[in-house]
Amino acid sequence: MLIVPEREIANLMTRDAAFDAVEGVFAAMASKDAYNFPVIREAIGHEDALYGFKGGFDKAGMTLGLKAGGYWPNNLEKHGHINHQSTIFLFDPDTGMVSAMVGGNLLTALRTAAASSVSIKHLARKDAKVMGMVGAGHQATFQLRAALEQRQFEKVIGWNYHPEMLPNIEKIANEAGLPFEAVELEGMREADVVISITSTFAPTIMADHIAPGTHIACMGTDTKGKQEVEAALLARATVFTDEVAQSISIGEAQHAVAEGLIKESDVHQLGAVINGTHKGRTSDDEITLFDGTGVGLQDLAVAASVVELAVQKGVAIEVDF
Ligand code: NAD
Repeated sequence: MLIVPEREIANLMTRDAAFDAVEGVFAAMASKDAYNFPVIREAIGHEDALYGFKGGFDKAGMTLGLKAGGYWPNNLEKHGHINHQSTIFLFDPDTGMVSAMVGGNLLTALRTAAASSVSIKHLARKDAKVMGMVGAGHQATFQLRAALEQRQFEKVIGWNYHPEMLPNIEKIANEAGLPFEAVELEGMREADVVISITSTFAPTIMADHIAPGTHIACMGTDTKGKQEVEAALLARATVFTDEVAQSISIGEAQHAVAEGLIKESDVHQLGAVINGTHKGRTSDDEITLFDGTGVGLQDLAVAASVVELAVQKGVAIEVDF
């Protein structure tokens, strides 16, 4: 069995490798070569922790395994560890034997950023110039960095519920050589691409905050009850997702479906656009919306990729098991 510790991930994994891994597995999911297992997420009644498993099998990439982990809200204060903790386990699909154990914390951020980035590549207008961010927390910085590689953006605009956090994303914009401007939510109408990555349970982005022709990637809603955008926006948009079952149950589409504004059949797999079986964006006025819920196969894909890189660089730890 190979071990790739968390401390090695930053030196090994590149945004390009994460992008390729996620794009590939979304395509495999849409062609039914890969599927995700039902997600388990439990409040364990200890340390207020939420713990669970996300797994799947990708027959195209021959990747089998799971990500185990969750959220320990007291970690930072009590133990000096980050609150989100996860580890990815890969198994040999031919024998069922465990093949790798990989630190999953940084990989989770990178695979989530890669998902919105893949959606921008395939759905945003080619002439997109203004990048809009709603959210400025831990994940937002990864999202923005990856997004800026997809189009020739000229400016970043941002809004955050806690305005004092905006410098987090201003720094990323400036590192990319772009000006940053803090705006009110109404100001998001200037954006050609918007990423929302917040933990809100009440929508902050209303349908009229998003201009025709925009691509919006909604990345924060990954649990029942969370909601970042007004459900009416999904009725106006062409809706894409990583996985339809998750989108309508724990993703942004859960609300629009529950309110009867859209049907399950109105939600399309991004992988179908990658494969060329869905036409994707069809006009410059269309709003495209990607509901990124986060699937286990994304974690397995980036873990498999990082194991390969660790072997190449001679830093994978081999143990008898
Ligand atoms: P974080 O705690 O670092 O940041 C939270 C963000 O939400 C901040 O911008 C904060 O200002 C904003 N926020 C908090 N309360 C708000 C409110 N009431 N209204 C509007 N905004 C509010 O968290 P993070 O690590 O950046 O994660 C952000 C979200 O992304 C979380 O909901 C997390 O579960 C989700 N997430 C999704 C995926 C996925 O695959 N889709 C992966 C990782 C994280």
